[in-house]
Amino acid sequence: MTDDTRALEQRVAAMLAEISPVGRASGGGWSRFAWTDEDRVLREWFTAKSRELGLTVDVDRAGNIWSWWGGRPTPDRPGVTTGSHLDSVPGGGEFDGPLGVVSALAAVELLQDGGVVPEHPVGVVVFSDEEGARFGIACFGSRVLTGSLSAEEALSRRDAAGTTLSEALRAEGVDPEDYGADPDLVSVIGAHIELHVEQGVALGDLDAPVGVASHIWPHGRWEVTVAGEANHAGTTPMDRRSDAMVRASEFVLAVRDSAVAHDASATVGRLRVEPNGVNVIPSRVTASLDVRAPGEDAVEAVLDDVADFAPVRQSWTPGTWFDSRLREVVAEGAAEATGQELPVVGTGAGHDAGVLQNHGVPVSMLFVRNGTGASHTPAEHAELSDCALGVKALAGALVSVDRWLTTVQADTVQADAVQGVSRG
Ligand SMILES: [Zn+2]
Repeated sequence: MTDDTRALEQRVAAMLAEISPVGRASGGGWSRFAWTDEDRVLREWFTAKSRELGLTVDVDRAGNIWSWWGGRPTPDRPGVTTGSHLDSVPGGGEFDGPLGVVSALAAVELLQDGGVVPEHPVGVVVFSDEEGARFGIACFGSRVLTGSLSAEEALSRRDAAGTTLSEALRAEGVDPEDYGADPDLVSVIGAHIELHVEQGVALGDLDAPVGVASHIWPHGRWEVTVAGEANHAGTTPMDRRSDAMVRASEFVLAVRDSAVAHDASATVGRLRVEPNGVNVIPSRVTASLDVRAPGEDAVEAVLDDVADFAPVRQSWTPGTWFDSRLREVVAEGAAEATGQELPVVGTGAGHDAGVLQNHGVPVSMLFVRNGTGASHTPAEHAELSDCALGVKALAGALVSVDRWLTTVQADTVQADAVQGVSRG
């Protein structure tokens, strides 16, 4: 191992250790929810770390923190941004979110130490409430920032204790009157790269420490209701029953078999049983159904297979394909910096990066191998040697994207000039 790799491992480990006590339960999992004491400690930590690197720290109108290296972005000088989130699910892991923030800070420091002077401002972002654990909407900060979730709707959301976001913001010294979309900021993000610990096993199976994302899988939720007839558990003969739970069990097995056949991921995670008595035959079972797959065809195939159960759609999120030109630029820069080719992998998990991409910002994602493949549990893991390679890949990508933005801008200026001539 080279000295610089060891130094990077130490940087990543030290930063993760600094925030490790925040929101950690004695059982081992981390619970860090938006606009709480834990969140404030993490935001203050990030602000202090940014200032140590000489970055200019801003908070946007949606509560996301942006630390700029090389000044704030402008329409003439758009920014190259990177970062992730610091909040977690209840009892989450150490890497989901923080690895992207820590890697972004470490990558900026690595470039600064190497004497790199980017042509565009480099921004490190901490998105607010990515997991949606407190107010029930994932990617809260990026959705409000881009306007895909209105401030009005966001501010009236309540947490489990009945506190509105508006009240929670006020308690943290943020004026809800100013809360909302920030189109001026979004318009000066030239390109965004989010590094994240992988939430599956694709990189492990490929024996690759770092990969680049192709897309976020399409994802839908449905509900199935199975009717039966309530009766006495002791006096109703087995051959004269209409048992909703037995039929619901057939649904669960059909979902599993179909998902296996079509290479999809399908889950029945919640059952509501009526009347829900130990000595009563169930009269009705309501089952949730979550289906995701690399392509929409596979999702539709699963739905076709269980059509007899008449699933009712609750939500649908189409697949998000990340900018393919940017992906090539990121992969090139990362390969140059790490000496390794990055495999292209998809993901079944949502990210702020997807929200930005859907809003028209060119986005790319880097994934760092997860040794256990587990996610949203303290069992998730990333080896420090892989994390160090992730930082190198990200630093290389930032440099190549900085260069790429210059050529894109030059092309645009030229195209405008040509258009001007033809118009004239
Ligand atoms: Zn995450």
